[in-house]
Amino acid sequence: MSSVRWRCARDGPTHVSDLVISSAVADEVMAHARAELPNEACGLLSGIGGGAARFHAARNIEASPFGFEMDAGDLLRILAGMERAGQELVAIVHSHPRSPAVPSARDIAESHYPVIQLIVSLSDSRATAREALRGWRIEDGIASEVSLLVEPDQQPLADRSTSEPARASMSSSTAQDPSSPPER
Ligand SMILES: [Zn+2]
Repeated sequence: MSSVRWRCARDGPTHVSDLVISSAVADEVMAHARAELPNEACGLLSGIGGGAARFHAARNIEASPFGFEMDAGDLLRILAGMERAGQELVAIVHSHPRSPAVPSARDIAESHYPVIQLIVSLSDSRATAREALRGWRIEDGIASEVSLLVEPDQQPLADRSTSEPARASMSSSTAQDPSSPPER
């Protein structure tokens, strides 16, 4: 008997994305996940208003290809840094080295936070970030996929006309500015 069920938000009509991530940040997530192979990688995404502005890698103290447990010290340090930067937790990230970016039975059983879970699949080494990343909400034993938008680097996370002054204060010490063209 399995309690694992999920619904796909992608089946619905066009709608506002639940999670927006720039391709630069998505690439950081992919790079960290690959660096941790063969084990699962984990970390957090922070930002403002559902936009993922920064990725924070954390240590997987399980050091296993089959699960993860975030290092508690890393978690506290990252959350404190987020607060100082005026950002909020946008998603919990972990990788699936050899399986699709779909929550496992354990992911569902161990999900205790009402935060989007972003899963990175490395099962296809040629997959782009847009293909490898999927976001989920897990509540009461049910995983529902959320809509995820990976934006090209050249565009801001939000329409400038809505003016979000908070974005100007984002720390970008680790941000690179790859001038590669957007992939479509
Ligand atoms: Zn998982």
